[in-house]
Amino acid sequence: MSDNKYDVIIIGSGIGGMTAANLLAKIGKKKVLVLEQHWEPGGLTHEFKRKGKFHWDVGIHYVGKLQPGSLDTQVLDFISEGEIKWNDMPYMYDVFHYPGLDFSVPSDKDDYKNKLITLFPEESNSIKQYFKDINKVAIWYIGYIAEKMTPPFIGFFINLFNKVNEALALCTTGDYMEKRFKSHVLRSLLVSQWGDYGLPPRTSSFLIHSIIANHYLRGAVYPEGGASEIFKSLNSVLEKEGGIVKTSIEAKEVIIEDNQVKGVIAIQKRGEKITEKYYAPIVISSTGASHTYSTLLKNKVSDIYEMELKKLRGGMSATTLYLGLKEHPGKLGFKGENHWIYSDFNHDELTTRNSILDGKPDSCFLSFPSLKTTNPKGHTAEIISFTHYDSFEK
Ligand SMILES: Cc1cc2nc3c(=O)[nH]c(=O)nc-3n(C[C@H](O)[C@H](O)[C@H](O)COP(=O)(O)OP(=O)(O)OC[C@H]3O[C@@H](n4cnc5c(N)ncnc54)[C@H](O)[C@@H]3O)c2cc1C
Repeated sequence: MSDNKYDVIIIGSGIGGMTAANLLAKIGKKKVLVLEQHWEPGGLTHEFKRKGKFHWDVGIHYVGKLQPGSLDTQVLDFISEGEIKWNDMPYMYDVFHYPGLDFSVPSDKDDYKNKLITLFPEESNSIKQYFKDINKVAIWYIGYIAEKMTPPFIGFFINLFNKVNEALALCTTGDYMEKRFKSHVLRSLLVSQWGDYGLPPRTSSFLIHSIIANHYLRGAVYPEGGASEIFKSLNSVLEKEGGIVKTSIEAKEVIIEDNQVKGVIAIQKRGEKITEKYYAPIVISSTGASHTYSTLLKNKVSDIYEMELKKLRGGMSATTLYLGLKEHPGKLGFKGENHWIYSDFNHDELTTRNSILDGKPDSCFLSFPSLKTTNPKGHTAEIISFTHYDSFEK
């Protein structure tokens, strides 16, 4: 095989691209090439450092604790060959702060439920029903995916079964909360992690809320050594299987001839900006649907896809302040948990203010990467505030 011919080309070396790469290399025995535009691989799992001692993550602060033996755990262990060591976050892994109210979230579903019931005894039944509902919706999602992956005959029955909870899954988080709970404080508490899925209650679907809320019900973990350990482990497995990740190479277009995918045209982002062609009968884009259809497949497939995608509005953007600290944050009582700090209970209203532009954000997420890993060289903090992309567009 010549240098630029592969069985599969994957565009993007984030967790999505690397999962596909490792599964195809390990199970399918494919020769895989991963193209990454950034000089640093790993997508949102990458880290950066300053002064040799301060490390920060760009997109992983915690991951929901996976159940031993679950499908997710098995897949992750398989593609990383069990090389990622996960540290437990503190038992109270998230703390929500509101005017006059602090609420710590325990790493145990029943403990969490009971804490809420103690605080809002008059809404006890609704709280119990909420936990049942988020589970129902998470199962609905598995059915939804299964329907797309199975032959139409089987898919038809899965769809029929799934209809029961469809309306629940597809209502907005805000609508669900309003119908289910009387207390606006309780409604706000339960959506405090909305930053994890990027849209406040009025505009997010109860489906994505349920998936994330369920994901963290057993608490959370963080990779020992930082988020970049995820890529390192996956890459060493991929290399062992004969795959390769090339960085600083931006895919420009997918080559399609005679209605068949032939490869990718890419440009080197370092040095002389040479255009190169890589060939493979299978190309997987892990760069997001919009970019895939509006750039990589521009004028190559029906406009319908691009038009459909244009209807989608983006989520909130994040502005992050990365801090290198002189002293141990434990001196202020921090143990490695995340803090969600809100100046108001109304999340929808908070997101309209865009107050970060005045230098006084109304809400933020605070996390300490150095407290989540052993023997860090320096202590660090990350403060994220959500804002609208429009503010920076110009
Ligand atoms: C601020 C922030 C905080 C987050 N915190 C958490 C958290 O605590 N826990 C959690 O589980 N999730 C968190 N997430 C979400 C999580 O990081 C992402 O969902 C996940 O990493 C996305 O992986 P991906 O592979 O789909 O995309 P990405 O990681 O974005 O990877 C896509 C890759 O494609 C590359 N690419 C794009 N275009 C091209 C091209 N033309 N040619 C070549 N390469 C290209 C990009 O450079 C990138 O490396 C957070 C996200 C953000 C933004």
